[in-house]
Amino acid sequence: MEGEKVTTMIQARITIPDKRTAFSGTTTAPLFAWPWEHYGNYKYLFYVALLAKYLYPTTTTEEGTEGSSWCLHILLLFLLRGLLYQLWSSYDYMFFLNRTRRISEEGIDFKQIDAEWNWDNFLILHAIVAVLAYWSFPSLTNLPLWDGRGIFCCLALHIGVSEPVYYWLHRLLHSPNLFTDYHWLHHSSKVSHPFTAGHATFLEHLVLCIVIGVPILGTVFIGYGSISILYSYVLLFDMLRCLGHSNVEVIPHHLFENIPLLRYLVYTPTYHNIHHMDMRTNFCLFMPVYDILGKTINTRYWDLHKDISSRKKTSAPGFVFLGHVVDIMAALHTPFVFRSFNSIPFSKKFFLFPFWPPTFLVMLAMWAKSKTFLVSFYNLRGRLHQTWVVPRFGFQYFLPFAADGINKQIEEAILRADRLGVKVISLAALNKNESLNGGGTLFINKHPDLKVRVVHGNTLTAAVILNEIPRDVDEVFLTGSTSKLGRAIALYLARRRVRVLMLTQSTERFLKIQKEAPEELQKFLVQVTKYQAAKQCKTWIIGKWTTPREQSWAPSGTHFHQYVVPPVIPFRRDCTFGKLAAMRLPEDVEGLGSCEYTMERGVVHACHAGGVVHFLEGWKHHEVGAIDVDQIDVVWKAALRHGLKPMQISPAIGG
Ligand SMILES: [Zn+2]
Ligand SMILES: [Zn+2]
Repeated sequence: MEGEKVTTMIQARITIPDKRTAFSGTTTAPLFAWPWEHYGNYKYLFYVALLAKYLYPTTTTEEGTEGSSWCLHILLLFLLRGLLYQLWSSYDYMFFLNRTRRISEEGIDFKQIDAEWNWDNFLILHAIVAVLAYWSFPSLTNLPLWDGRGIFCCLALHIGVSEPVYYWLHRLLHSPNLFTDYHWLHHSSKVSHPFTAGHATFLEHLVLCIVIGVPILGTVFIGYGSISILYSYVLLFDMLRCLGHSNVEVIPHHLFENIPLLRYLVYTPTYHNIHHMDMRTNFCLFMPVYDILGKTINTRYWDLHKDISSRKKTSAPGFVFLGHVVDIMAALHTPFVFRSFNSIPFSKKFFLFPFWPPTFLVMLAMWAKSKTFLVSFYNLRGRLHQTWVVPRFGFQYFLPFAADGINKQIEEAILRADRLGVKVISLAALNKNESLNGGGTLFINKHPDLKVRVVHGNTLTAAVILNEIPRDVDEVFLTGSTSKLGRAIALYLARRRVRVLMLTQSTERFLKIQKEAPEELQKFLVQVTKYQAAKQCKTWIIGKWTTPREQSWAPSGTHFHQYVVPPVIPFRRDCTFGKLAAMRLPEDVEGLGSCEYTMERGVVHACHAGGVVHFLEGWKHHEVGAIDVDQIDVVWKAALRHGLKPMQISPAIGG
C-alpha cells in the first residue's frame, strides 16, 4: 500500500556524523558559534539598550526622534516574532488537538530541548543587523506607514531573489564539507519543531539575513517601502519558517485538490519534514516550484501529505498515567505553555505570576467544559506511554460537591482507555483518593468487564519507602498510619520484626490493622496517640502534614521518610528529610522531554513507575483498594528487573 510505503520512508532516519551529535558546538569552523554564546541571558541586554535609546534619545532634533522610533519598531518586531514562535511551539505541543496529524510520532527529548534552548539567537542577530541597516541607509528613517505598491515589489524580490538564492545556498550547505562543518547542527534535531528553525549556526543565520533582507531593503530603495511591509514581510517569513518546521500537518490536502497551482507555491510541514528525513530532496525556502525546477522534489511528497493530513487515527498507547493539575502555577509547567520550563523540575518562577489571572480563568473554563486530555508521552521498548490529565486542580478534590464530577471524569477516562485498547491505566495522586473512589475500587465494581487494568501503583510506592529504611533499624514512628500506605508499611515492617509506633487516635482502626498481622507479630505494632511518644525514635515515616511543633519532638539526627503530598517543610536543621517516593525510568526510554512536577529529569513518581511495571510484566489483575502486602517484594523485584532505579536518597538538610 502506498500509505505504508510513505510511512516507512518517514521512519527512515538520517545519520549524522558521530562526532557531531554532541550538540556541543565546539567545532573549529569559522562563524559556527554565536558571538554571545557564553553570555547567557546577558544577550538580551541589547534589547535593554534599544529600549533605553527609545526612552532617552540622545538628540532632540527631528532626526533624533525618528532614530528612537526605529528602536521601538525593532523592539516591537522582536516581541511579535518571539510571540509567533512561542504560539507555534504551544500549538505543536497541544497533542489533544493534533495527535492524528503529527508527522513524526516520536517525542522531543531533553537532549533536543537543550540543544535548541537558544533558538532565539537569530532574533537578536536580526535586530543588530536592523540597527546597522538604519545607521547605513538614511532612507530607512522616513518610511510611510503604508504604500500598496510595496506589496508587489517585495513579493517580486522574494520570488525572484530570496527563493532561488536560498535554494542554491541550501543545496551548497548539503555538500560534504559545508554539511559536516555547519548544516549538520540544524539536522541534528530528531523531531522538527518551530524552534528547530532557529537552531542553526551563526554563519547560516548571517546568510538568512541576506535572504530576508533583500526584499525589504530592495523595496525601500525602489521607493515603495513602508512600515507595514516591513512588519508583514518579516512576520509572514517567520510564520512560514514555523510552518515548515512544525511537526503537525496543518494544511488540508483538499486545498491543493481545489487549487492545484497552490501546491507549487507554498510548502507544508510535511514537505520540509521530508527534507529533514531524506536530505537529498526538498531544499526550497517556501516554494516547491524551485525544487521542481532543480529536479529535487521528493516524488512521494503528495501521497505522504494526503496520508498525514487526512489521518483519522493514531497509535494507541499501551500505558496511561492519569494525572491532574496541582495548582495554578503548576499549570504553567505543561509542555504546551513553556516547553523549556516543563523540561526542568517545577519550581515557582516569580516572572510567571502575571499569568496567574488568565490561568485562573482557564481553570474555570476547564471545570465547566473540558474533558480529560493528553498532555505528554514517551516511548519505552516500542510501546507508547502517555500522560493524560483530568481537568481538575488539587483544591477541587477537597470540595465535597466536586467529587462526583471528578469521579465521572476518571470513569470516562478509564472507559476511553478501555475502548482504545490501553493495557494499564495508573491513577495518580488525588485521582485514587480513598475517600473519593476507594483507591479505584469504585470503577472496578461498576465495570467488572474492563479489559484495561486499573492500577493505583501504591504497592511500588510502599516498596520504595520500605527499601529506603536501613536494615538495622528496629523501631520506627509512623504517621498517617491507618491510611492505605500507612497500613501496608506497618504490616510489612512488623514482618521484618521492626517495632512500629503507629500514631492514630482511633483504637478501632489500629486494632483492625493489628489483627491482620500474624499473632506472633502483633506485638510489633504499637498504638501511640502523641508525637511525644517518638522522642527516642530516630526513624520517622511521615504520612501526613507535620507542624514545626510536631517535628520538634524528633531527637537530633532523625531521618524523616515521607509520603505526604505536598512534602513537609523541613523545619529541623539537625535532621534529614527524604524526598517523595520516586523511581528513575529505564535508560532506554525514548522521546522523554517532560519533567513530572518537581521530579528530576527521567524520574517519575513511584505510582507512575508502579503502573509501568504492571504494564511491562503484563499482569492481569487490577491493583485497587488496599495494598496487598505480599506483593510489595514482588513489585519491587520486577521494577529492578525492568531497569527502573530507586532514587538515591539525597536527604535535604533541614532549615
Ligand atoms: Zn538542510
Ligand atoms: Zn529545517
